[in-house]
Amino acid sequence: MKVTFPHMGTMWVAAKAILEDLDLEVVVPPMPTRETMSIGVKHAPEFACLPLKVNVGNYIEAFQRGAEAIVMAGGVGPCRFGYYAQVEREILDDLGYPYRMIVLEPPKGHLGDLINEIKDFTGQRSLRRIYRAVRLGLAKMAALDAVERQAGIVRATEAEPGATSRAVRKATNLIDRAALIEDIRTAGQRGLDFLEAVPRRDGEPAPLRVGLIGEVYMLLEPFVNLDIERQLGEMGVIVERHVYLTDWIRSHLALDFLRMDHERETRKAAEPYLRHWVGGHGLESIGNTVLYARRGFDGVIQVAPLTCMPEIVARSLLPVVSQDVDLPVLSLFLDEHSGEAGIKTRLEAFVDLLTRRRESRQRAGRPAVAPQLEVSGHRR
Ligand code: SF4
Repeated sequence: MKVTFPHMGTMWVAAKAILEDLDLEVVVPPMPTRETMSIGVKHAPEFACLPLKVNVGNYIEAFQRGAEAIVMAGGVGPCRFGYYAQVEREILDDLGYPYRMIVLEPPKGHLGDLINEIKDFTGQRSLRRIYRAVRLGLAKMAALDAVERQAGIVRATEAEPGATSRAVRKATNLIDRAALIEDIRTAGQRGLDFLEAVPRRDGEPAPLRVGLIGEVYMLLEPFVNLDIERQLGEMGVIVERHVYLTDWIRSHLALDFLRMDHERETRKAAEPYLRHWVGGHGLESIGNTVLYARRGFDGVIQVAPLTCMPEIVARSLLPVVSQDVDLPVLSLFLDEHSGEAGIKTRLEAFVDLLTRRRESRQRAGRPAVAPQLEVSGHRR
């Protein structure tokens, strides 16, 4: 059985490693392009979330390359992620694509169900084999995350535009080719060395620091976020995302089972504004805005698909949070009509605002960054 999966940033490296280690034939979905988007937009409901449209386009492209089954993560409400898999299944059925859909639901305390599902489609591979494959995938994710985090810092002062992105591509290829845990660690370290070797500009003021918050697919997939990390980096801004691949896997698939609240700090920070889980990363968007302010970041950018319910909830609270913690926030809601040029103008204006704000704070003798801001009030 030839399997494929949704494309989300560099997740393909880890997903491919896990599935191949379980002796499955893998069709890596092609990188999303405008063509992928057009296919998805044509067949998905108009008001479906943008990630669903891109997924549908991806699955059809992968089918044309021979894929017979799709492995995807399931979801729970209250947002539309809860019935993503069903909607995608029906769209593909209606179009006559005879895909087998394998939906890995978050275990929610029943790890046995998840393991049985994996055993079922891998031909009853032993627990030991499944563990080995997952460990391999997690090691690749950790290596990729370390490289991407470092790239967000290095790109802000690269002497030649594009040098950091080239180093990341080289590192990703090395990590992809590594077959053993030790090799993956070595490849990850070499990736960091490539970044260390990127020539940098010296003698400039410390770069601005911006935190990216929002919906996970939009943050992880450069095609849909119009390469926002690269765009900001090439404007001389250090960028950090609130979620990397391992964070998502940990919170979505693994730690749900163990009922460990690794996001406790984020939830606590969000508490004065939002006490309920609203689906997706809405609550995390609020909590992380507060945390970025406490860490002295210069600004926050929220990136979400148009009509994304959790991020609309967050968006309605962010002006109050922004005022309370004294941190500028820009919200970008994107859809299939968004283009890089339009977003670039808004990013440039935001970066300009942050630069002037920092300068005026320095002139007024205030620290350019506020090290430990406390949330000043609780408004409703
Ligand atoms: S988080 Fe937003 S984009 Fe993702 S499924 Fe939910 S509503 Fe759609």
